Amino acid sequence: ANHLIRQLRESSLGREEDVFARLPGGGTVTFDALFAGAERMASALAGQGVQPGDRVAVQVQKTIQAIELYLGTVMAGGIFLPLNTAYTGPEVAYFVGDATPRVVVCDPVRKEEISAISGEAKVLTLDAAGQGTLRDLADGQPGFEPVVRQADDLAAILYTSGTTGRSKGAMLSHDNLASNSLTLRGYWRFTKDDVLIHALPIFHTHGLFVATNVALFAGCQVVFLPGFDADAILDAMPTATALMGVPTFYTRLLADARLTPERAANMRLFISGSAPLLVDTHEQWEARTGHRILERYGMTETNMSTSNPYDGERRAGTVGFPLPGVEARVIKDGAEVPAGEIGVLEVRGPNVFQGYWQMPEKTAEELQADGWFITGDMAKIDADGYVTIVGREKDLIITGGFNVYPKEVESLIDDLPGVLESAVIGVPHPDFGEGVVAVVVPKGEGTSAEAIKAALTGQLAKFKQPKEILLLEALPRNTMGKVQKKALREEYAGLFG
Ligand code: ATP
Ligand code: MG
Repeated sequence: ANHLIRQLRESSLGREEDVFARLPGGGTVTFDALFAGAERMASALAGQGVQPGDRVAVQVQKTIQAIELYLGTVMAGGIFLPLNTAYTGPEVAYFVGDATPRVVVCDPVRKEEISAISGEAKVLTLDAAGQGTLRDLADGQPGFEPVVRQADDLAAILYTSGTTGRSKGAMLSHDNLASNSLTLRGYWRFTKDDVLIHALPIFHTHGLFVATNVALFAGCQVVFLPGFDADAILDAMPTATALMGVPTFYTRLLADARLTPERAANMRLFISGSAPLLVDTHEQWEARTGHRILERYGMTETNMSTSNPYDGERRAGTVGFPLPGVEARVIKDGAEVPAGEIGVLEVRGPNVFQGYWQMPEKTAEELQADGWFITGDMAKIDADGYVTIVGREKDLIITGGFNVYPKEVESLIDDLPGVLESAVIGVPHPDFGEGVVAVVVPKGEGTSAEAIKAALTGQLAKFKQPKEILLLEALPRNTMGKVQKKALREEYAGLFG
């Protein structure tokens, strides 16, 4: 059988006529319609020459047809390769050049631009209404018997978000995806009675694998939204049970007066990930809705690795425990550190990817022979077993030979009155190597660099105190809510001359 597809279908067997997706505007899609659509996509792709192991690169808007394309690619034995809809022509050219797909699917308005950079690949289209040349090819197709694929065969290549450098293609096997969805379904108690609000993009692991796969593994319903839309999410809440979001979903919803305990009364679970959730957001959410957000941690390379518990204490500021079957350890100078000490987080388990596409050296550096993957995130694990992510190794600041963990400084600044949030970075400094710089977003009555400076004196060792404090209206973020520290470092590279 096809390892992933068989399992994705299993939970809805016998309930094929039940609704899988509620669409904006009132339409619905049954499980049967979804899988029949996926089979037609698989037939169409096979007709275009897609063979087992071929990549299908996809840069399209979020539609049910795009989900069918994902499932159809895997049914055809292909490797699904989604691309951020924000990528420009030259960016797409890099990914297509790197991944050499058999087929590229893009929005019709970009057909010419994408065709010019797609080389040998066949270019098909799919628009925001689920129409296009791919749909035309698929529509007349018969059913499709999924191609046999084993647990270790690749199902997808997902490029990382490019937060720390050039995006890398993470090769994910059928079982990387299946095992993680199965674990999450159990850990978060998803059943066929759930209704998940699905407002995340489907070109990223969060919306594609965590949200879509877990819903299919549970055989539950999704409220399928093309993107974040506070009105639509608040409208859906009274008849939904779960929401998966990035932290900015939660801060934006908090800004809406319609968010009340009554509106959230039918909801059983709010999940956050992809970027750190501020403790402040966690507390405000509980005060406003009566629910404690469940924060989890993962990466493109590993799917989900840790999660706060469903029943136990959901501890704000932490990402909870390693998931069942996943091991985690913190390493410093080649050895595991005692509880509570900071080092680089490593994880091992069936969730860990097969390596970076066409980057054998990088794979060898980060994915060790005994299966432990070096995440590049700095973390600590406390005596109770809770994991806290303290930032990325690449964001660690070394000033005058001393290490400064940005999170420690950010946490103190974020707690000050008149501060919404902050990002602490290191930029080149003639005397110290790197100088500590704090970029701060004020809120309410506001703040000043002097006030922040004064508040930090006495709280932080001198070398950790920012040498410059800059006030900004907002931090630069990508679509997944990740703060772009690389962009900040570039912008302020000349600050200390
Ligand atoms: P690149 O690897 O290309 O630099 P990226 O690491 O941002 O980009 P993703 O795989 O999308 O690409 O993101 C994974 C990273 O997101 C993790 O390594 C971690 O730094 C961060 N992350 C995810 N969830 C959380 C969380 N709950 N708290 C803190 N950080 C998180
Ligand atoms: Mg990364």
